[in-house]
Amino acid sequence: MQLVFASRNRDKIAELSHALEGLPLEVREAADFPWVPDVEETGATLEENALLKVRAVHAATHALCLADDTGLEVDALDGAPGVHSARFAGPDQSYEKNLEKLIRLLEGCPAARRTARFRTVVAIAFPDGREETADGVCEGLILDHRQGTGGFGYDPVFYHPESGKTFAEMGLKEKGKVSHRGLAMARAREILARWLAESA
Ligand code: IMP
Repeated sequence: MQLVFASRNRDKIAELSHALEGLPLEVREAADFPWVPDVEETGATLEENALLKVRAVHAATHALCLADDTGLEVDALDGAPGVHSARFAGPDQSYEKNLEKLIRLLEGCPAARRTARFRTVVAIAFPDGREETADGVCEGLILDHRQGTGGFGYDPVFYHPESGKTFAEMGLKEKGKVSHRGLAMARAREILARWLAESA
């Protein structure tokens, strides 16, 4: 059984694939299907955007499809960048510019007010068009400097207190155990395992 990721983001695809290891699924990417359109993330919520993405890929492939939409909610910024996390610093979707903007906006913000969370909604579309979603949340603090060289996006400034390190200081496996995406994908994995067992 093939599963198509409704994403062209290689960093995300690596984490999503890791979370599904061991399931009898052949993982494919939207990039393998040139006729799949790029989807504009016009939804007002992560769930709406995850569903927009998964529906577009399902409509083009009729396969089992999975999409993820993620937002970083910073309390001192009233929940921004939230659903706009990818284009926080402008339309070109640069990790580096987004990071710079976040660090700049929080200059002078005391440690106690640097609370934030990553939230992921994963949407699954089954071949028959039925849909399910799963979410995951991870609480942390935004540092005033980059720490670590791994991960992607906002990982170098997202400090996870229970682990004593940023996401950029974790490997794929360690991040996957505690992260927003890891938690959402653990639920998605259960949904997929159940469906695979039922359709065997
Ligand atoms: P989207 O889900 O593609 O809309 O992603 C939103 C943006 O959030 C991405 O462009 C990344 O900059 C950032 N992002 C998503 N997931 C993560 C993560 O696991 N760590 C750090 N940044 C992330």
